[in-house]
Amino acid sequence: MKKPVVGVMPLWDDEKESLWMLPGYFDGIITNGGIPIMLPLTEDKGDLEQAAELCDGFLFTGGHDVSPEIYGEKPLDGKVSSNRKRDEMELYILRKALESDKPVLGICRGIQFINAALGGTLYQDIPLQHPSKVEHHQNPPYNIPVHVVSINVDSPLHKCLNADTLHVNSYHHQAVKQLAPELKAMATSEDGLTEALYMPGHRFLWGVQWHPEFSYSTDDNSRRIFKAFTDAMFN
Ligand code: MN
Repeated sequence: MKKPVVGVMPLWDDEKESLWMLPGYFDGIITNGGIPIMLPLTEDKGDLEQAAELCDGFLFTGGHDVSPEIYGEKPLDGKVSSNRKRDEMELYILRKALESDKPVLGICRGIQFINAALGGTLYQDIPLQHPSKVEHHQNPPYNIPVHVVSINVDSPLHKCLNADTLHVNSYHHQAVKQLAPELKAMATSEDGLTEALYMPGHRFLWGVQWHPEFSYSTDDNSRRIFKAFTDAMFN
């Protein structure tokens, strides 16, 4: 049987002017029977369409802030570092994924991007716009849980993990504010941020605000999320 191919959104380093990849994203897919490939950082629609056709699913990775223009806001002074090219290519890839009903997993920026692309809004800067005592921006090591999320009982995440609460790592300064109309929350932090969401009716579209790619080698629940994603491609 052929393994599913997962198109992974490219990471871009502004300082080194370099494409790069976190091994955890790839390993999380490989250990669950998929083949990850990094998609090109291009706005060429023809190239993106052909590349998307090669893929059975898509992983929306972490990285730059989502441009606030996507959800109709101006960037807060000095708080937002975005990458227009990434936003453009990801908008196109997400559209293709939805049209073809291919599985999508968004992690960190990924959950934020999916929400913004589908008509939701974001907190541009949590410390400024949603201050709380919850640690959302931890120091290394990043595989250590720093806050709790409660999981909605009727959500696919609850079915996957069979747990009402989950201890998660956290490394983000932005977050989902208003949920996009087609999305539903799956998990919420103690200070009320949506930390996981899904799209009812789509084969598999999940976003998580924490980082299973940092914890999958030490944490069963992180592995289960990657497994749910790759399993959806076998169905
Ligand atoms: Mn968090």
